[in-house]
Amino acid sequence: MKLFEKSAAELHDLLVEKKVSAREIVEDQFTRIESVEKDVQAFLTLTKDLAIDQAQKVDEKIARGESISDLEGIPLAVKDNICTKGIKTTCASKILENFVPPYNSTAFDKISAMNPILIGKTNMDEFAMGGSTENSGFHATKNPWDLNRVPGGSSGGSAAAVSAGESVVALGSDTGGSIRQPASFCGVVGIKPTYGRVSRYGLVAYASSLDQIGAFGRNVSDVAIVLNSISGHDSMDSTSAANSVPDFKKSLRNDVKNLKIGLPKEYFTDGIDSEVASSIQSAIEVYKNLGAEIVEISLPHTDFAISTYYLIAPAEAATNLERYDGVSYGARVDGIDVVELMKNTRTEKFGAEVKRRILIGNYALSAGYYDAYYLKALKVRTLIQRDFTDAFSKIDVILAPVSPTPAFKIGELLDDPLKMYLQDIFTVPLNLAGLPGISVPCGFTKSKLPISFQLIGKAFDEETILRAAYTYEQTQNFHDLVAGGLS
Ligand code: GLN
Repeated sequence: MKLFEKSAAELHDLLVEKKVSAREIVEDQFTRIESVEKDVQAFLTLTKDLAIDQAQKVDEKIARGESISDLEGIPLAVKDNICTKGIKTTCASKILENFVPPYNSTAFDKISAMNPILIGKTNMDEFAMGGSTENSGFHATKNPWDLNRVPGGSSGGSAAAVSAGESVVALGSDTGGSIRQPASFCGVVGIKPTYGRVSRYGLVAYASSLDQIGAFGRNVSDVAIVLNSISGHDSMDSTSAANSVPDFKKSLRNDVKNLKIGLPKEYFTDGIDSEVASSIQSAIEVYKNLGAEIVEISLPHTDFAISTYYLIAPAEAATNLERYDGVSYGARVDGIDVVELMKNTRTEKFGAEVKRRILIGNYALSAGYYDAYYLKALKVRTLIQRDFTDAFSKIDVILAPVSPTPAFKIGELLDDPLKMYLQDIFTVPLNLAGLPGISVPCGFTKSKLPISFQLIGKAFDEETILRAAYTYEQTQNFHDLVAGGLS
């Protein structure tokens, strides 16, 4: 196995045993990037010089005989909506093309304390709006398993980077599936923590009541390590939770005996691609054989989740994006007066999808429509939350598909936004309810496209979904594969 194919845990052991230096890891990482990045295009910014300096410091520390953290010397990629002090953070938008944050997001600050090695900032759908990374203001990222297909989105750059062996772990954000769906399309593990588990301070806001930072890794253990480093209360984010943070590595036990796994009947419908359905069915059989109890459940308001999400998320987005006015932030396109300046800036610098959502959001919030759309959506959100609360009184975790199909072709859904939105049917309910979810690779289609299932947990019970994911993973070898076509 080549260095760039190894997990964080494996690299950590090699560093501790002095079989490899951090500098060797980083150099190997950039050699890999040089050979595949022209095809995959996962990054918007690469930070090679900084990475080599950081590696040097880790090596000096090891040479002094000091102990190192789980992430020390491990390559890390960060989605470009997570603020990194002194390093461009564009949200893949022309409006923030030259924005260099004067501060770090809390999540990046926290993970930096573990001394991972920042490789670069990853591509995404502009302002995290999308599910294919085609909405980037700069370029589309390709799926490393099939370069004619999308890597998913909006954190497609982070997922593709880990999948292609261009980074070992990565940070992403998930507002309606943007970690779990690209993880699934690219065959890596992705976790979206409970809303409030990870501070949103310094995460550029898309929809504030839904956004959550989370992790990508080649296996469950790696995402647990990253989650350990970014979780916890932050006084800079009033929605971050005061709950104590367990050591997620301790959840990695091989045991699902008597675990009650719920299968929501609304998630197993005819609309699911047959290869996806049969892979997930096999995963369910694996759990049965491992002693888990499979229970059919119902989440009766599932059908309303897409409409609810696509009112609430654009409403919050329209409000959050008001700040990009050409005056206080980012790019400016001049005009004869300030009104024209704002109009020109926003017309020229926002992409089509962002504009679409600003229009939907402002419409839903406008006088006369507020009660009919936005307020109604908030009420349905409560019903969706209650569905989960009721279900979790009978079961421990929910198992469901991540996406109805494997990765689709580049351009296939781009002209049909509604079809694109419908892809999110299995991922958005969990964000509306604020629950944690993990995407776990469970197979391939005949044409070698990755398939995953997702496990949904109770609020602040990431431990159970990590344990269940880990136990399943021990029976499989998908996590050993780095994007087949590129190796
Ligand atoms: N695809 C969803 C959307 O476009 C999810 C995006 C996300 O989670 N950031 O809103």
